[in-house]
Amino acid sequence: MTTTPSFPDDTDDLRLEIIETARALPRLGLTKGTSGNVSARTNSGFLITPSGTPYKDLTTEKIVALDFDGCYRGDILPSSEWRMHLDFYLAKPACGAVVHCHSPRATALSCHRRGIPAFHYMVALAGGDRIDCSDYASFGTKALSEAMIKALGERSACLLANHGQIAGGPDLRKALAVAEGVEDLADQYLSALVLGEPAILDEAEMAVILMKFRTYGKQANELEDGQTAAFELPRRLD
Ligand code: 13P
Ligand code: ZN
Repeated sequence: MTTTPSFPDDTDDLRLEIIETARALPRLGLTKGTSGNVSARTNSGFLITPSGTPYKDLTTEKIVALDFDGCYRGDILPSSEWRMHLDFYLAKPACGAVVHCHSPRATALSCHRRGIPAFHYMVALAGGDRIDCSDYASFGTKALSEAMIKALGERSACLLANHGQIAGGPDLRKALAVAEGVEDLADQYLSALVLGEPAILDEAEMAVILMKFRTYGKQANELEDGQTAAFELPRRLD
């Protein structure tokens, strides 16, 4: 049975969490300057970082609330990429947070309009057997948002041509982890390409990996009925 997730109220605590997540981007080397933006879904729309504001200058008052009709109030302009965030949420009802950044290795690949194939099983972190790169469109446009939706498909991340990457997750911590994971994969893929196109895992193997990811990180007592552990368990003695 699938349950509809509930999302938090617009509170100062949530606004602070968005600021902390946004400040993690330059700290983790995932973006520089004012590039990138972060949002979190609320029970009435979503909160997003303001446009063109250095991460160190963010305050809770500068975080902008939008509704799903794309309306906002106040003097502070939301991120130029508000539409990508809005459309991400509309396309993915379970998504609670979105992170966009110009992380260096993902951006380098995106400039070649190349996505990340299943050269490593960890591409499954975005929920599929590859991570695609979108078509090109100017930043802050509806066309970019449409290209993003196409490249995302059923997955939770994609590269944006000649621009960077965008990643979502159930909450801010997990969305940031997906963005970090995409950057790691882009780094590894670019390194592997030095010796030519690497071996690519086939569809059947990636289906196995995606199944394993459903239970990876869970303890034995956390498995739901009918679920098996992600790997062969050693014999427990006590
Ligand atoms: P904002 O400062 O408007 O969020 O824009 C940054 C960016 O990365 C645009 O793609
Ligand atoms: Zn950008």
